[in-house]
Amino acid sequence: MSKSVSTIITKLSSRVAGITPSSTLAITAKANKLKTDGKKIISFSAGEPDFNPPEFVKEAAIKAVTDNKSKYTPSSGILELKRAIVQKFETENGLVYNHNQIIVSNGAKHSLHNAILTVVDEGAEVIIPAPYWLTYPELVKLAGGKPVYIRTAAENDFKFTPDQLRRAINKRTRALIFNSPSNPTGTVYTADELNEIAKVVEETGIYVICDEIYEKLVFDKTKHISLASLSRGVQNKAIVVNGLSKSFAMTGWRIGYLAAPQEVADAVDALQSHTTSNPNSIAQYAALAALTDTRSKDFYNEIKSKFQVRRDLMISILSETEGVSCTAPQGAFYIMVNVSKLYNKSYKGFRISNSIDFADKLLDFGVAVVPGEPFGADNFLRLSFALAEEEIKAGLDKFKKFIAELG
Ligand code: PLP
Repeated sequence: MSKSVSTIITKLSSRVAGITPSSTLAITAKANKLKTDGKKIISFSAGEPDFNPPEFVKEAAIKAVTDNKSKYTPSSGILELKRAIVQKFETENGLVYNHNQIIVSNGAKHSLHNAILTVVDEGAEVIIPAPYWLTYPELVKLAGGKPVYIRTAAENDFKFTPDQLRRAINKRTRALIFNSPSNPTGTVYTADELNEIAKVVEETGIYVICDEIYEKLVFDKTKHISLASLSRGVQNKAIVVNGLSKSFAMTGWRIGYLAAPQEVADAVDALQSHTTSNPNSIAQYAALAALTDTRSKDFYNEIKSKFQVRRDLMISILSETEGVSCTAPQGAFYIMVNVSKLYNKSYKGFRISNSIDFADKLLDFGVAVVPGEPFGADNFLRLSFALAEEEIKAGLDKFKKFIAELG
């Protein structure tokens, strides 16, 4: 084989070459290294609840193993689970679907990937409000699409306006990715705001991919309302994504799902049948128990109140911390902390000029956070409150001491 041919064969596809490697990975790798070296690190970087799934969910999984639920299932999921999801949408979100419109996948991320591959053509534009969950742009690029960002600001609770959306739409626009409650900002849109966004979706006919994975984690008197439920017109353009990862602390079980207009659901079904086939059969039976057992409500209400106590604790400490600012998130379990006033200060002779530098030096000090840069928000750090109250107090105390050392 000539050298040039072998070079061609070993070259990576432009599809994967275009993926931005996660800049948080370097920090995670460094945090792990410091931990294995015996250094105590307090981590505000968790992207998953620090609870375990309810006992009855675990029992359902054990029963599924004992009952030999070990064969392939229909690639879009077992009928009982799809019926339970239909019921969930109807009672909790006011959305009526038939079970053929539901596709169960390997986590909400997989559902999002399926949705984007299904509606985004080469060169099509997808609108993503920033700050955004860092996976969205990568999935759009993988599908050959182009992410188009609309900027939001902390002063407006990181909310975009219908006008901003309208201005971003052109004939190449295929979809909006709409995440409420949001990771990383915790923003939750109100009924009035959703109404205005729904009107733009209806007028322009773009798809809207609604990522509602944090729906159960909303605080104070905030209510989660699905954008798709605002009108029949918007439901016809909506692909609603949800899953068990955050509400049932089942991140590792990998069950997510989507509900979509029939032609989209049929295409996702075909796509999934050739890529992953069905999601894990045992996890599907566990998900069925989670979605149908009456004890579930108590479970997620309990984790929600624990998260609320921690959020309040973090906000009260951070609001007294020199040089930083933040607002109380209404949902999810992250706080965006603006540290940009501290940029250009130095730590042990090193000038901190962005969120990645900040997170890196803070880690040397024993506190792990996620820089805002990969979320499209370089003035911020993302601090998760998926950790115990004692850890929060100790970690934020260190955070304050680190800031006091900056010169
Ligand atoms: N959507 C958002 C906004 C998330 O933050 C996450 C996980 O962090 C997901 C989707 C993915 O969820 P899953 O673990 O079910 O794939």
